Amino acid sequence: MFTLLYKDFLSKAVTFSYDDGTFYDVFLVELFHKYGIKGTFNINSGLFGAMMHIDFGHKIVYHNRLSEDQTAMLYKGHELAAHSLTHPLLTGQTKEVLDREVLTDMANLDRITGEKTVGFVIPGGPHDETLDTYLRDKVLYERTAAANHSFELPEDFHPFDPTVFHMDPEFLPLCKEYVRSAPDHATWLYIWGHSYEFSLFDTYKNLSEACEMFASCKDLWIAPNRDIIGYVQCGRRIREEKGQLINDTDCDIYGRWNGKNVVVPAHARISQ
Ligand SMILES: [Zn+2]
Repeated sequence: MFTLLYKDFLSKAVTFSYDDGTFYDVFLVELFHKYGIKGTFNINSGLFGAMMHIDFGHKIVYHNRLSEDQTAMLYKGHELAAHSLTHPLLTGQTKEVLDREVLTDMANLDRITGEKTVGFVIPGGPHDETLDTYLRDKVLYERTAAANHSFELPEDFHPFDPTVFHMDPEFLPLCKEYVRSAPDHATWLYIWGHSYEFSLFDTYKNLSEACEMFASCKDLWIAPNRDIIGYVQCGRRIREEKGQLINDTDCDIYGRWNGKNVVVPAHARISQ
C-alpha cells in the first residue's frame, strides 16, 4: 500500500489564504516576508482602487482595495487566486454572470502575474451546484468560507473547507496542536482570513505568533495553496500495478510503500 507524503518525506503542510486584496495586506506581506512565508491572496480585479469600509457595530474598518499597480508590486512571489470580479453572491447566477465574474477576474490576474491563475475563492462563501460544476474544469481548487478544524486533506478540492479562520478562538490552539503532531501521512493546516481583521481583537498578534512558531518548525512545508494542492492531486494519481508504482505526472512524488520511504520520479515507475 502507498501512503502519500510531501517532499523530503514530510507529513505536515501549512498554507495561508487571504481575501479581498485590501491595503492591510501590506502588513500581512511584511509579516510573511519576515518569516520567509509565501501565501495566497484572493483578488477582486474589478474593484481595484475602490474606497470601502465595513461597519462591525463597535468599529468601522477600512476596506480600501489596492490599485492594479500596487497589486502587481506587493504580491510578487506569492500566489494570486481569483475571488470574482466584483464580489457578488454567486448562487443562482446565469452562465453570462459567471463568465464575467470568474473568467474575467482570472484573465486580469493572468495578465498581472504573467502566470496562469489556478485557484478560486467563493465571494462571501455561499455556493451551489451550478457554481461548483462551472468551476470544476476551470480551476485546480474552489475554497469556501467555512472551517472544519480538520488536518485531513479534502477528498475533493471542488469545493473544500479550510481548517480554520484566523479569528476563531480555536486558531492558536489548533496551530499549536498541529506543530506538535506527528502524522504518518500527508496532512495540512489551512488558514484563511482577511487582513482588515487585523485591527479587530488580537488577530494580528495571534497570526504573528503562529507565523513565528511555524518558521521555527523544521518538519513543516509552508507553501501557497496551488503548490500543495497541485502536489496532492499529482500524488493521488500514483497507481500500483504488478508490483510497481507508476507516476504519470510532472511531479516527483514522495511516500511510504510497504513500510519503506520511496520517491517515484515524474513520468517514471519504481519496483519493490
Ligand atoms: Zn471576500
